This record gives sequence, structure tokens and C-alpha cells, in this order.
Amino acid sequence: MNIGVYPGTFDPITHGHTDIITRSLRVFDKVIVAVAPNLGKSPLFDLAERVEMVKLATKDLAQVEVEPFEGLLVQYVRQRGARAVIRGLRAISDFEHEFQMALINRRLDQTVESVFFMPREEYSYLTSSIIKEVASLGGPVKDFVHPEVAKRLHQRLRRHHP
Ligand code: ADP
Repeated sequence: MNIGVYPGTFDPITHGHTDIITRSLRVFDKVIVAVAPNLGKSPLFDLAERVEMVKLATKDLAQVEVEPFEGLLVQYVRQRGARAVIRGLRAISDFEHEFQMALINRRLDQTVESVFFMPREEYSYLTSSIIKEVASLGGPVKDFVHPEVAKRLHQRLRRHHP
């Protein structure tokens, strides 16, 4: 089976992420969404909540598995019997970081390929950070995230806007 691993912070998952998952399912038989703790990024949602929201947002997609992962990505990819790391490319600004990650991962394990997908244009400016900013200012985020994610964002950020 041709398996791809889609790693990320998903704080929280947006329609941009689900667009990448949907596209990657056209190429891979199964996609494992690997949610990283990434405490360095000081996530708004803890790991368990992020995993739960990814599960909710992908529940209608067959052949998607969601789990937390820690440690070296290439090791995890091998352990799961996968062949490739899936990443999304929004704009040129993503390129440098993704290029560096892909090359270091290749250096660490030459058998693991990195594969990039471009989202729909309307999601190409969408980041989890901008969504958190809009939600924290009381703006609507329903066009960009799953309804349950929108609800949790407003609940979590409400204290900033009584
Ligand atoms: P990370 O901290 O690993 O960058 P993210 O959750 O921010 O985690 O992103 C995971 C992957 O999804 C990255 O490859 C990122 O470029 C991609 N991504 C995030 N948002 C979008 C989007 N709107 N369209 C396409 N790709 C996206």
C-alpha cells in the first residue's frame, strides 16, 4: 500500500490542510496525519485537542488516519511503512523552509521522499495563525475551518473579548 505521512502542528486544522489531505488521497492509498506537539510554537490547543479536531475535520475522508507523533519524522515515516512526507505549498514564502526540511530529511533517510501539493487558490493565503488572529478579534472564521473548530476557537479566545 502506498502510504503518505502528512506532518504538522495543525493548531488548528484549516480548510487549507484538508484540501491538501484530499489532494494527497488522489495519489496515496492512505494518508496518516501526524500531529506534532511543537511546543516551541506555543500552540493554542494542546496535542489531544488538535488530534481530535483533525479527526473531526477528516471524518468523511476514507483512508485517513490521525495520530500524535514525536521524534524524528523520517523514523516515524519508516515505522509506519510509508514512502513519503506530504507537505503543502501556499506561496513562495513557504518554499525556503520546506526546501530545507525536505533536504535535511533526505539526508537523514534517502528512501523517504517529500511530496508537495498546492491548495486551492482561495486557501493559498490561509494559515492557522491568521485564523487565530481573526478569531481573537471576534471575526468570523466559518469559511476557513470546520464548524466545530470555529466553535472551539471562539470558546478558547473569548476571554480576550468579553
Ligand atoms: P508546521 O508547523 O509543520 O508548518 P502547519 O500545521 O502550520 O505545521 O502546516 C503543516 C503543513 O501544511 C505545511 O506544509 C504547511 O505549508 C501546510 N499548510 C498549512 N496551511 C496550508 C494551506 N492553507 N494551504 C496549503 N498548505 C498548507
